Amino acid sequence: MAVSQNGWEVNPPRSLRLVPGTVDVRITVADGPAGDVLMYVATQFDARVEDLDLDSTRGELDDWGYAPRPIRGGATTSNHASATAEDFNATRHPLGARGTFSRQQVNNIHQILAEVDNVVRWGGDYFGRADEMHFEINASPAAVQRVADRLRDQGSGFLMSLSPQEQRTLFNRAMGFLQQRWWKVIDGKAAQVPGGSPGAIPCAALDTLDGAYIVGTIGKLTERVIKLEAQVAVAAGKELTEEDVRSAVDAELAEFMDEYEKLSIRDDQEVQG
Ligand SMILES: [Zn+2]
Repeated sequence: MAVSQNGWEVNPPRSLRLVPGTVDVRITVADGPAGDVLMYVATQFDARVEDLDLDSTRGELDDWGYAPRPIRGGATTSNHASATAEDFNATRHPLGARGTFSRQQVNNIHQILAEVDNVVRWGGDYFGRADEMHFEINASPAAVQRVADRLRDQGSGFLMSLSPQEQRTLFNRAMGFLQQRWWKVIDGKAAQVPGGSPGAIPCAALDTLDGAYIVGTIGKLTERVIKLEAQVAVAAGKELTEEDVRSAVDAELAEFMDEYEKLSIRDDQEVQG
């Protein structure tokens, strides 16, 4: 079996995944625990170190994952070939350069890596040629699996016991429902309401082991829909409070959340049995 520098198999099953919290940053990583841990690092990097939506000054996308190639300038197979490495804002942190991050950013990077038990290594910590854009899996499959399991457990409640497909379906149903309400209300009326412009709606923001993110995104959009519906109703002279709208929306959301909660209980029982 051909392996890359870190001992992981090259050309594994892999997927292009959206980094949660970004507008449109997609990175191809190995399926399973390695990719899950790399996505966690990417998400946290975006939130706590530097915005991953930044492109190069020439507008090129510069966040990279899988690439079948040797380490630059060498014969060893790069960990990018096993889809267990990722580069962030590559053009801002070029190969060989040191000090491309502030001290605070470096502290945050080390904090994030500590949260994954340092099964991921940062190229800025290389003793030789620095590679500050670069993060890679640097541990055994068993160690990486333990970290991925812990992250999933932290991720939050019942959502995490659903399969990725079930999570995606639930998320899409909730978003579809909220968008329908949203557009029904907008329909030319929102312009009359101060602050009522629709703005962007996250419609395809899911490929994550972070259940808190899913719940948070649904929650945020729900709040916007409720506020807007109530404002539009008041502007139209109707008696409708935020509380009225909230209970209508919550009731409908709760209906299909319940369906999925039953699925997760089913899964728990299977695990226990
Ligand atoms: Zn790299």
